[in-house]
Amino acid sequence: MSKPRIHILALGGTIATRPDASGVMQMGAGADDLVKAVPLLATVAEVQAETVSRVGSHSLSFDQIHALAAKIATLQADGVVVTQGTDTLEETAFLLDLLVQLDIPVIVTAAMRNPALTSADGPGNLLAAVRVACDAWIRRHARALGVLTVMLDEVYAAADVIKAHPTRLNAFMASQTGPIAALVEDRVVPLGLPVRDAIDAARKKLGKASGAAQPVALLWMGLDEPGHLIEALLGASDRLGYRGAVVAAMGGGHVPEPLADRMGRLAAALPTVISSRAGGGAMLRHTYGGPTSEIALRKMGIIWGGRLHPLKARVLLDTCLRAGLARDTIAEVFDAFG
Ligand code: ASP
Repeated sequence: MSKPRIHILALGGTIATRPDASGVMQMGAGADDLVKAVPLLATVAEVQAETVSRVGSHSLSFDQIHALAAKIATLQADGVVVTQGTDTLEETAFLLDLLVQLDIPVIVTAAMRNPALTSADGPGNLLAAVRVACDAWIRRHARALGVLTVMLDEVYAAADVIKAHPTRLNAFMASQTGPIAALVEDRVVPLGLPVRDAIDAARKKLGKASGAAQPVALLWMGLDEPGHLIEALLGASDRLGYRGAVVAAMGGGHVPEPLADRMGRLAAALPTVISSRAGGGAMLRHTYGGPTSEIALRKMGIIWGGRLHPLKARVLLDTCLRAGLARDTIAEVFDAFG
């Protein structure tokens, strides 16, 4: 039987670094190098490798991921594996999930340990991602699974996966749902299908979402936050170039009381989404009173980000704005996330 055709698209990241003369890791390896380092790939799939860029994922842009999504849609393949850096994988995978809808697996993988280290995880993650892309259950449910991330033999849904540690080998997790499958020996063990109603509903409204860049400010709330950045944004005639804002609020959706007036003005000035700095998770809607409780913030017209992590809420808001959605439609899109 012929092997599945898997197209590997390499963007860069630690998985594609090489040591320079001083031993410092620099971007450099392309898709062919990554494939050459894993001879077993040829026993699993018919691999085609393409180098898209050689950049750290901390320097990727929304435009680059939109272009990548458009490229993926044109590929003649049975599955696609994207390799990139880990730093922004939780965002790029979710953006691809919003933009790409195919009946083939689309998987994003990366490496925490660089190729100069004895226990580099890049080759193993690449092989695992290709194995997952070739798996019959994954292929059968490709559309229901959406874009996936494979790290350390675990398979995560793009909307749920987060990078939870800066350096540890097991840096990735999905704190709300856990992995949707595990790779054991050479087989995929399914654990569950992701709930995608909110994503499917969003995708219907988003269409191609191909408009110009729509910068979204991410404002992280901390103890005693004075709100000077919000004030600066409101005071600037061009809103400092921002078209929307995500506020990573405390707990179930709260900010410090002295910010009440500013939050109301922010919501009037820009589509403003609140999600929880606790790392995402469904927030409250009608439990607490007070000037900056969830009840008050929602009355101000602030959009409720549902269970999305603030980084993913920012990706979704950018995508909604690129699609030219009106504020009320954006609120509906987010509302479906719980
Ligand atoms: N800075 C790197 C990147 O995201 C880190 C990594 O790949 O893990 O590209």
